[in-house]
Amino acid sequence: MIEYDTDEEEIFIPAEFDKLPLVCKRHKKRLASVDLSKNSYRRLLCFECMKEENERIRNPMSNFLKNRYSIEDVISSKAIEDTRAKTIAYQEKAMQIYTDLERRINTLIDILNGLKYDIQKKVEKFIIKSSNSHLDAMITILAKFQGEKAVDEGENLEKYIKHFLAIEKESELKVMKAMHRETMFDLNALHNSLNSLQNNWRFNKSNTFSNLFP
Ligand SMILES: [Zn+2]
Repeated sequence: MIEYDTDEEEIFIPAEFDKLPLVCKRHKKRLASVDLSKNSYRRLLCFECMKEENERIRNPMSNFLKNRYSIEDVISSKAIEDTRAKTIAYQEKAMQIYTDLERRINTLIDILNGLKYDIQKKVEKFIIKSSNSHLDAMITILAKFQGEKAVDEGENLEKYIKHFLAIEKESELKVMKAMHRETMFDLNALHNSLNSLQNNWRFNKSNTFSNLFP
């Protein structure tokens, strides 16, 4: 922001400043300030205008003072160049924000895919263990016992018991059911968080943003 001197004989004009006829039509003095308020009574002000405006508004602490900018900072080719540089910086920052969040989201997607894979393996193992192959083997061995009309210690009995033990039991299904509930609970919580994030980006946050960057 450029400081301005109230003595009109010594008004500082930057060398790069455009040669615009910046003179107040009412007071014939050099314009010093632009009022950028939403509903400004007058935009272009010399020091006399500013004095008048201050008296008119009477409350020098009110917001309008904040919205007065040095004219060189707003209406000049330098102002446009500065704004262009700022715009580029903002665009770069926005891309950085995207890249950063994208990387984080991809990590989460990888974790979820890993989880899905682990669950799939566990369920497959359970299904294989509870398949009919063990039962078929037991039926065959039982038929031998029946043919021999006897059950003795030995290889067949060991095989029969091995297959019997290999079949997944109800207790193991219970463990898996409990894990199912627990996982569903956590996934629902995660889903709620994701919904809320999605709503934040999808729906109106523009008011908040424009407060941050007036
Ligand atoms: Zn004036």
